[in-house]
This record gives sequence, C-alpha cells and structure tokens, in this order.
Amino acid sequence: MCGVYRNIPVWSVHPAGRLPGAGNLCGQEEIHLSIYLNQIRQLITLQKVDDEIYVLDKELKAAPQELEALRARFAEVQARRERQNEKMEHLHEQEKRLGIEIEDDSARIRKSKSKLMQVANSKEYHAMVREMDSLEKVNRDREEEKTLLIEELTLQRGLKEEVETEFAAVQDELQRCEAGLEARVSKCQTVRSGLVQRRTEVSKDVPMPVFTRYEFIRERLDHPVIVSVVNRVCGGCHIAIPPQAYIELQKGTQILSCPNCQRLVFWQEHFEPTQKAEE
Ligand SMILES: [Zn+2]
Repeated sequence: MCGVYRNIPVWSVHPAGRLPGAGNLCGQEEIHLSIYLNQIRQLITLQKVDDEIYVLDKELKAAPQELEALRARFAEVQARRERQNEKMEHLHEQEKRLGIEIEDDSARIRKSKSKLMQVANSKEYHAMVREMDSLEKVNRDREEEKTLLIEELTLQRGLKEEVETEFAAVQDELQRCEAGLEARVSKCQTVRSGLVQRRTEVSKDVPMPVFTRYEFIRERLDHPVIVSVVNRVCGGCHIAIPPQAYIELQKGTQILSCPNCQRLVFWQEHFEPTQKAEE
C-alpha cells in the first residue's frame, strides 16, 4: 500500500490552525474535531451503502453457483439411477434365464422318469437313475441360485426406490431453482442499481481526497473499508492499535489507517461514549 495515502489530514482544516494546549478543547480544536467527526460520519454512511452492495454482489455470485452445484448433483443422481436400472435389468434377465433352465430341466426329468419305466435291463436302468440324479442335482443348484437371486432383487428394489426418491427430489429442486434464478438475479440487480445511485449521492458529501483514499482501499482490501476501534482493537483485523497511534486516533485530528490491516479506523467512543458507572 502506498505510504502517501497512509493518513489523511482533516480536509479543509489545516493542522497548523489547531491551537496547542492540553486539557479541555479550545474553540478551534472543537471545530476541528467536529469537522473530523463529520467526515467519519460521511464515510460510515458510504460504508453502509457499500455493505448492502457487498451483500448483493455475494448473492449475485452465489445464485448461479448454487444452480451449477445443483445441476452437478442432479447429473450424479441421474447416473446412479441409470446404473441401478441397468443392474435391475440384468437381474431380471438372469431371473428369466433361470426360470427357463429350471423349466427345461424339470421337463427332462419328467421325460427320463417315463423312460425309466420302459428300460429292459438293469444296466440301462442304473445308468438312467444316475443321469436323473445328476439332473436333479443341477436343478437343485438352480433353485438355490434362484433363491439368492430373489434375495438380491429384493435388496436392489429397495435401493432403486431410494434412488428414485432422491432423483425426484433433486429434479424438483433443480426445476424450482432454474425457474427462480432469473427472478432472483433481476431483483438483486434492481436493488443494486438503486444502491449505486444512492452511493453517488452519498459520495458527493465526502471530500475528494478522503473519497479517493476510501476508494483506493476498497479496490485493494477485503470488505469493509472503514471500521471502528473498540477497546483499542481494530474492528477489521482484530489486532490492537499501537499506543501512539491510539492516542492520535483519540485526538481526532486526522483520518487514520490501522497500521496492521490498513483499513480506515475511527474511535467508537467519539460516537458512543461509554457511560461512566455512577450508580
Ligand atoms: Zn486493522
């Protein structure tokens, strides 16, 4: 930050015009302080308008980002839903195939049983019995497979229901967000342009060197530009003002910057003196 801008003498009152002396303020010093306080008040008023603009700008920036985040979430749920549907489809195909195979095997067993009645010799008979046994075993395995498949289908159906519920909710939220975004943005912009106009009005009251300093800080530092000092602590960076600078601040002869964060500072007590406990 440029050192030239560090502190600004109270505009239109030359510091040399200040009468020396401690204790009560003499007439000249009183005028001087009141000009100083007036400039601080003008800056605070300007800051308040900028505070509102700051909030709106954040909102204007956040609104499309929220929509983007929602779109990304929707795409993610949609992909998950598709994967789930594919899985279900695959399981149904498996179920169908198993059904056919079980049916075919049963038919084969029935056929073998009827053939069994017609065999002539015992050698052939035993061979047929063995064949039937192995067919029955295959069929039992398939029945087992079917049971497992049904269990899996029940589980996947539950998951599908969950994903469908989530999908519907996100889709609904996205549609509402898309519809509302335009209205939200245009409302913000309307309010903002009113504030910008008000800012121009308010700026006119601030002496040019003071306003230039304010703008210089506003463009370079994080919001806000002017902050109060309460109990020696800067309201911007929350670090204590060094003793000498604090004494200067209390005098109210020039607009000071916080030595740490460079924001403009004013002493809160100038505006809201602490009530001395008398009771
Ligand atoms: Zn500070």
